Amino acid sequence: MRSFDARSHTYLGYVLWVEGAIGAEEREFLVAVGPGAHGRLGFRAGDRLSGVGEWVANPLEEIAELYKVSGLKMEARGEEAKQGGPPFHTLAPPLPVYRERGHRRLKEERYEEKCRTCMWGCRMPVEMIVDHWNPSKMKHRAETFCYGPLSCPSYNAGSRRRVPGRKGATWTEDDWVDEDATSHRGRDE
Ligand code: SF4
Repeated sequence: MRSFDARSHTYLGYVLWVEGAIGAEEREFLVAVGPGAHGRLGFRAGDRLSGVGEWVANPLEEIAELYKVSGLKMEARGEEAKQGGPPFHTLAPPLPVYRERGHRRLKEERYEEKCRTCMWGCRMPVEMIVDHWNPSKMKHRAETFCYGPLSCPSYNAGSRRRVPGRKGATWTEDDWVDEDATSHRGRDE
C-alpha cells in the first residue's frame, strides 16, 4: 500500500509460479496460497502439485490468477536444492522473516531474467491512494522486490520508483528508503 511518500505492507501468503494446466489449457499461471498451506506442504521449486482454485475476484488487487485453493496435493517433490545461489532455491521462510528482513526494489526485467524462481524475489500488487482526502481514489500496479542478501551479484535496483499524488504531484522514492529498510542486515545475510 502506498500513499505518496508513505508505504505499508500486508503479508498474506505466497505466490506459486506454475508451468501446468488449468483444466485442459496448458500454460504458465500464478496461484496464491496461504501460510498454512506452505507450512503443511513446504513448497519449493520443482514440486508437482494439483488442486482446485477460484479465479481471483479483483485482478487489479492480486498478482495471482487463482486463489482459495482446496484439495491442494503434492504429486511429486522437486529436487532438493543445493545450498547456494543465486537464485536461492531452499524452502521459503515464514512470512514474518520476510517482514523482518525488509526489501529493496528490484528491476522488473532483472526479476524476469534471473529472480523469478528465487525464494527472495517477489512481485507484489501495490495499491496507491492518490488523494488522501479521498482514499477511495486508488491506482494499482505491480512492483518487484528482493529480500535477499545485499551482496547478491544478480541484484539490479533499476530506476527509482515514482508514486502519484494529489493534483498531479509525484513523489520519487529515493535510494535511502531501501537502505533504511535493510540496514540491519550484513552484506551476506
Ligand atoms: S537479486 Fe534478490 S531475488 Fe534476485 S537472485 Fe539475488 S537474492 Fe534472489
